[in-house]
Amino acid sequence: MGVTRIVQINDRLSDDAGADSDAGHATPAEAAWVAIRTSLRKSIGARTFDGWLKPLTLDSFDDESGELRLCAPSSFTANWVDTHFRDHLLQAWRAMLPGVRTLIVDGSVDGTRPIASDGETVQSVAAPVAAPIITASESTPFEPRYSFDSFVVGKANEVAYNAARTVAEGGALAFNPLFLHGGTGLGKTHLMHAIGQDYLARQPGARVVYMSAEKFMFEFVAAMRAKDTFSFKQWLRSADVLMIDDVQFIAGKESTQEEFFHTMNELISAGRRLVISADRSPQDLDGIESRILSRLSWGLVADVNPADFELRLNIITKKLEAMPQASVPQEVVMFLARRISANIRELEGALNRVVAYAMLSGKPIDMEFTQATLADVLRANQRRVTIDEIQRRVCDHFRIRQAEMSSARRAREVARPRQIAMYLAKQLTPRSLPEIGRRFGGRDHTTVIHAVRQIEKLRATDAELDADVRLLMRQLEG
Ligand code: ADP
Ligand code: MG
Repeated sequence: MGVTRIVQINDRLSDDAGADSDAGHATPAEAAWVAIRTSLRKSIGARTFDGWLKPLTLDSFDDESGELRLCAPSSFTANWVDTHFRDHLLQAWRAMLPGVRTLIVDGSVDGTRPIASDGETVQSVAAPVAAPIITASESTPFEPRYSFDSFVVGKANEVAYNAARTVAEGGALAFNPLFLHGGTGLGKTHLMHAIGQDYLARQPGARVVYMSAEKFMFEFVAAMRAKDTFSFKQWLRSADVLMIDDVQFIAGKESTQEEFFHTMNELISAGRRLVISADRSPQDLDGIESRILSRLSWGLVADVNPADFELRLNIITKKLEAMPQASVPQEVVMFLARRISANIRELEGALNRVVAYAMLSGKPIDMEFTQATLADVLRANQRRVTIDEIQRRVCDHFRIRQAEMSSARRAREVARPRQIAMYLAKQLTPRSLPEIGRRFGGRDHTTVIHAVRQIEKLRATDAELDADVRLLMRQLEG
């Protein structure tokens, strides 16, 4: 398809970039940009967003190279956005469009860089749009959708969930701080918003402050510039509950890091509740002093793990309850839960996309429609299963030795599992038939074809065998 040039789509967006009446004609990149802007505004706060990110426009997306270009009104803004929001933006983009590989923030609108007479690009030094003078700061408002009720609990997240509930209940503190960590899109922010809302519902009038670490940095730097860090600190210290999201963005940035952790220390000493999240454990955060590390680890460090199939299925089912207008067959639900395993944000995004596209196009949601609509997401979620892994799993399952995969024995109890393994190798890996044959004791490709046909036939008639195959597929695809 090549490069899509996008002409000032931002002009068409409403202020909070919510509804896009033109969604029917939007390219996937345009549609993603609308959603990303809305969610960024929430996650980093209206002021930071309006000051730095709102002026950005979507320039182009090249779906072959995966290069995405954004334009900022000045190179100063471009620089700032690049240093402070690059990870965040890239993460948000990849969640919506997994094909995005590189992100470039250009310093002038529409690629028409001002050219000086000597041909050099002019370095614009225009100030950012919003004057960043902040004293008593605002906290990001909570997202009503992110409640404890809407959070689906499973093995992967039950420790984090229970800890979050304990913090929200506001009783005596058994641990402080609560440090939530886990990969992106697994529900950390959701839990923090849930804590905030639940706490406020129990103790109206309490001061609950929630901020992304980026916003924290932005506010702190602004306070420093205005030579008024005092009121910023006072404001933080007056919080009953302070929650800072994604502190990996602070780690390594010296002045902010130091300030942040000092403030945190004081809050802990003063018995304030503190909740921190990061995409990795305290030990893995770069450049954090050991003194601070040990303080962090005094509290409860709870990890949020990737959801297993069952949890993914429960989450989709729950989300669908909230969309009674969407009719999604169970087959599609199972397919999504099985195939979109990277994280919950992607799973949710995929479901939303299927439902939205079906509505816009008036088509029913079936397997074909789902696969076509989600082609890029599905590709990105494809786990690389190896033949070795398949052989190991199959042998485990049927309790035979792995050497039987290559042996010449034809006894049913080893021949059938061997055929199943060949079938799975054909279904789940991109290997060719001769290659598969070679990995099974140098068998001929016609033997592999025979095995594949045999298992296909048996799956239709032998329920037990079919259940074995399904189970193995699920295990292998994670
Ligand atoms: P993180 O902060 O860990 O990157 P988020 O909290 O932003 O992830 O979660 C991404 C999306 O997935 C959100 O829309 C959230 O509501 C949803 N989500 C994550 N975990 C769950 C869960 N256990 N139940 C319901 N929704 C979830
Ligand atoms: Mg988050």
